[in-house]
Amino acid sequence: MVANFNSLNYIILDNTAFVSAFDPNQIALQNPRIQFYITSSVYDEALSNPRSSRLIEIAEAQQILKVIDPLPESLKFICKTAEETGDIAALSKTDQEIIALYIDLNKNLPDQRGIIISDDYSVQNTCARLKIPFYSYQKRGIQKSIKWEIYCPNCYETFPPKLLGKNCDHCGATLKRRAYRGKKRKL
Ligand SMILES: [Zn+2]
Repeated sequence: MVANFNSLNYIILDNTAFVSAFDPNQIALQNPRIQFYITSSVYDEALSNPRSSRLIEIAEAQQILKVIDPLPESLKFICKTAEETGDIAALSKTDQEIIALYIDLNKNLPDQRGIIISDDYSVQNTCARLKIPFYSYQKRGIQKSIKWEIYCPNCYETFPPKLLGKNCDHCGATLKRRAYRGKKRKL
């Protein structure tokens, strides 16, 4: 294990962690005070996969796993932030919930240190924007927050973030996103 989870009090997991065969029980062997949190939608999804359901069963038996859903106002706050970063269209409801759960836990447990483990790029980007610590289990995590720009690959028109994946008003091409590099300098 590359990362050191021993100084942490809690870890919030999303499904990408389970898909990467992240095993909470292994971490708990090294750090017996660690607590894992997942949302009910992560829980349901993880239970539907035989491999992760086994890990969940063990974690529950060890009493190191709690299922909690975020407060609606925290979820709203995450939505707003993701709209600003341009991540909103790529961030599922589940993704938004796990970040919102961090907001709640951080408020309720101010003396504790926690992180989110996710391999999802948009989750990482939103976390970076909010200075929420995250760890990518499989891939190398992003280095800094990126602001996305939604654009038409055909006519180069730009669009609001929530239109990612929709069609261009002008030519009908599917809109894409790219890292926003600031305004172009005028010649
Ligand atoms: Zn276009």
